Amino acid sequence: MSKGHIGVTSENIFPIIKKFLYSDHEIFLRELVSNAVDASQKLKTLASVGEFKGEMGELKVKVTIDEKKKTLTISDRGVGMTAEEIDKYINQIAFSGAEEFLDKYKNDANAIIGHFGLGFYSSFMVAKKVEIQTLSHQEGAQAVKWSCDGSPEYTLEDIKKDDRGTDIVLYIDDENKQFLEKAEITRLLNKYCRFLPVEVAFGKKTEWKDGKEVELEEDNVVNETNPLWTKKPADLKDEDYNKFYRDLYPMSEDPIFNIHLNVDYPFNLTGILYFPKIKNNVEVQKNKIQLYSNQVFITDSVENIVPEFLTLLHGVLDSPDIPLNVSRSYLQADGNVKKISNHITKKVADRLAEIFKNDRKGFEEKWDSLKLFIEYGMLTEEKFYDKAQKFYLFKNTDGKYFTFDEYKDIIKENQTDKDKQLVYLYTTNVEEQHSFIEGAKAKGYDVLEMDGQLDSHFINQLEQKFEKSRFVRVDGDVAEKLIPKENTLESKLSSGDKDDLTSVFSAQVPSTDKMNFIVTFEAMGADANPAIITQQEFMRRMKEMSAMQGGGMNFYGEMPDSYQLVVNENHPLVERILSDKNEKVGEQVNSVRSKIESLNGKRQELEKAKEGKKDEEVPQVQKDELADVDKKISELNTKKTEILSGFSTDNKLVSQLIDLALLSNNMLKGEALTKFVKRSIDLI
Ligand code: ADP
Ligand code: MG
Repeated sequence: MSKGHIGVTSENIFPIIKKFLYSDHEIFLRELVSNAVDASQKLKTLASVGEFKGEMGELKVKVTIDEKKKTLTISDRGVGMTAEEIDKYINQIAFSGAEEFLDKYKNDANAIIGHFGLGFYSSFMVAKKVEIQTLSHQEGAQAVKWSCDGSPEYTLEDIKKDDRGTDIVLYIDDENKQFLEKAEITRLLNKYCRFLPVEVAFGKKTEWKDGKEVELEEDNVVNETNPLWTKKPADLKDEDYNKFYRDLYPMSEDPIFNIHLNVDYPFNLTGILYFPKIKNNVEVQKNKIQLYSNQVFITDSVENIVPEFLTLLHGVLDSPDIPLNVSRSYLQADGNVKKISNHITKKVADRLAEIFKNDRKGFEEKWDSLKLFIEYGMLTEEKFYDKAQKFYLFKNTDGKYFTFDEYKDIIKENQTDKDKQLVYLYTTNVEEQHSFIEGAKAKGYDVLEMDGQLDSHFINQLEQKFEKSRFVRVDGDVAEKLIPKENTLESKLSSGDKDDLTSVFSAQVPSTDKMNFIVTFEAMGADANPAIITQQEFMRRMKEMSAMQGGGMNFYGEMPDSYQLVVNENHPLVERILSDKNEKVGEQVNSVRSKIESLNGKRQELEKAKEGKKDEEVPQVQKDELADVDKKISELNTKKTEILSGFSTDNKLVSQLIDLALLSNNMLKGEALTKFVKRSIDLI
């Protein structure tokens, strides 16, 4: 027997393994089982090149628990190690600048383990003593036992061992007793070892017999050694892919399609990505991609490894070029990881383009499930946008689909405004904005359905990408003004008429601290509605964005919703209100107005006299006179408004037109609705 010192700056390494690595301690099992798998595969390789000529036999890796001895053993029949190899690979944890490194990464367990091949030593996270009993495959080799109790000292002695290969025996310490439980080991093997390329057995298969669980002869193999992604795509059918999907995500609906990745240059990458049926909640869908390195499970949180939008996909990625065990921050900076991530983005875009090209109809049928994903990608990855702009589909209110180019051609003629800007009309709610959609269609316009979760952001992006174009929600204005053209209709109203009608309508519009109305006028056709309610595009978007983001743009979030009541200057009912007004209060209003006008004349004179003078040069009498005139004007204005409001209150038609406009915007509710119904009956 010999004794020695483990060749690390060892005073540091064990406390670090014990303490800092504590939170990830379950990964020791992955490390030990994958070492056993490596050793078995090495033996196969040696046999295949003729360097190992002995009997290979069965190469299963076995995991066993001994409850009495409190040990967990991982056994393989792989290459084994000679005493010299133990010294070289286990004792000399060979690296330079150890202390500096440990200092830098002391909070990052995975970085240490992965970077320095400390995989084997992770066993000390859970064991107070570890033994290696091993017999090398080399002819005439002597079996040896290495033993270490977690201090930097180890012992090495010759033993008798008949079978080739290695047993790693862990004497589990008291704080980690769960690793002696069958259920826990089963869980870990299932998580980390499910697709390892060499069979891994944990105990025997069991069966229920006469109410008791009995062991069978057969080994309980926990893994599938040839998972689907390692096979050739040409040999696989849709059903195989769907079955594998169900194995991975037992409770899920079938995916809409898949991408089988198979790259060997300039890096190695295999995998299968699935497009799930995306429901409306982005959050729930994430964290479904599993990342493997040579079939060893590494993680299922792949953010930072693949672009954010790809985390909506499901499936597996396997690349030996993504360093095993490496920390998140390290991965982000890794050049290979970046290349892989760009490559996946490209492949996904190419696959979508291919389906679009070969099966446009099928693509359209799947569009509603794809749209969120594609918009997410276009919003966040420039390169993806470039590819996706050829297959992104606009859907209009008739359920027809168009590419960007196709759609532009369709609306070019009719929807270009007087400034040569192309106007894209859209609705966010076909039901609620129904009358506006009809109004726009009546003018020969096309309306897009943009009711998705990301659509408001996406519209902003398109406005930046498309040249000389803008998007206008269909209820953003009256149909006549959605797309301003040169020839507007002539108005039948004078400015005095408009002034009076503004007071008349303002007196009856709803006013709360959540919303306010501005009355405006527009010369529309006599067959258009007498009054319409619109909401300014800019304000509405700002409010929507602030609601989506929370915080930040709260200034807009707290503003009341402001609407316009657009009165149709050419509608006969509006003319009727006007002549009614003239009849009932016309003289009164006109006499007030002429008084205001003469005072305004006076006011102008006074202002003129002040011109060019400094404030202190103006005599006090003049200042007083001006203030007096202003006061009188404001009193008269108030009086005029009062007269018109009085008229308005008694005029059922005004309330009726406003209520009809509110009603077609789905804004007439509660008591106001009841009143409306009652008034309607009276009017009939
Ligand atoms: P890594 O696997 O990254 O090389 P480890 O600390 O896990 O680092 O293992 C160190 C070395 O010890 C391995 O490279 C291998 O040479 C040897 N080794 C570990 N486990 C076994 C085993 N079960 N059979 C044969 N050799 C092994
Ligand atoms: Mg290892």
